Amino acid sequence: MQDLHVGFIGLGIMGRPMAGHILRAGYPLTVYNRTRSKTEELASQGAQVAESPAEVAAESEVIITIVSDSPDVEEVVAGPKGILEGIKPHSVVIDMSTISPEVERNLDEKLRAKDCNLIDAPVSGGDVGAQKATLAIMAGGDQKVFERVRPILEVMGKSITYCGEVGCGQLTKLCNQILVSLNLLGVGEALTFARKNGLDPHVMIEAVKGGAAGSWQLSNLGPKIVERDFAPGFMVDLMQKDLRLVLEAAAAGKASLPATSLVRQLFCSAQAHGEGRQGTQILAKIIESLASLDQ
Ligand code: NAP
Repeated sequence: MQDLHVGFIGLGIMGRPMAGHILRAGYPLTVYNRTRSKTEELASQGAQVAESPAEVAAESEVIITIVSDSPDVEEVVAGPKGILEGIKPHSVVIDMSTISPEVERNLDEKLRAKDCNLIDAPVSGGDVGAQKATLAIMAGGDQKVFERVRPILEVMGKSITYCGEVGCGQLTKLCNQILVSLNLLGVGEALTFARKNGLDPHVMIEAVKGGAAGSWQLSNLGPKIVERDFAPGFMVDLMQKDLRLVLEAAAAGKASLPATSLVRQLFCSAQAHGEGRQGTQILAKIIESLASLDQ
């Protein structure tokens, strides 16, 4: 049995498998989910189930949150029956959601007033990374506190990087989203160009993926686009939340990101066609329609 009691809030696509890894690593675990039915599987494996985030905090030394957006993290940390109402001194909140760096800094201040700390530790690697415990985790916050909780992060990920003070984890994750979305746009354009010119798209992917144009997006999402599999690993709606966070932070820092703005507008078209809950690879379909290709 591990010495730290861990609390886990948010058992969605990502949170549920991540909490399962913590339990199997031998940490005593207390979980909370707004929709209580999602706690049943972990309860049957030995997790305690709490009635509120405050109750999770009262039981735990390290409290992990992975919910949807900035207001949701604010609610579970600082809202009624939130973590701040139950937290014990010297506890650590690790927020693994993708949210605003500014919100993380504000919550860290509130936690410090209670002799506690916040580590922002968003992830990359999708649902498969969560299930296989192969996530890339990018963390910000006090470095000594980070080192104290690193063994818990290692249970969920294979690449754990300390990025700097509170908020730097989120800023790094936003860089990740710029790279991912622009890369995907390139995949969509190359596949459209290949089809328009009569190439076999599978052969094109095979020919280029080992060279300088190779990427995760091309190898993993390229074949899905060709096979018309648009089921979500990562949904368009969540990507749009992330690109909104990128452009807000860019505006605050006076950085002009023209290509990120463009890709956000193209994803907007997918949402307008009712495809917000499809996988991000749907972007290729938008490019195909601009080229008047059959869908
Ligand atoms: P999800 O399946 O929609 O799960 C969201 C979880 O947050 C659910 O447990 C939900 O509770 C809970 N929640 C949302 N708002 C809440 C609130 N106001 N109060 C209490 N609980 C709340 O989403 P996900 O895919 O796991 O994503 C979670 C986070 O990870 C997001 O920030 C996302 O951007 C990030 N992320 C996702 C992926 C991915 O591939 N899916 C990859 C990297 C990062 P209910 O069950 O009651 O709805």
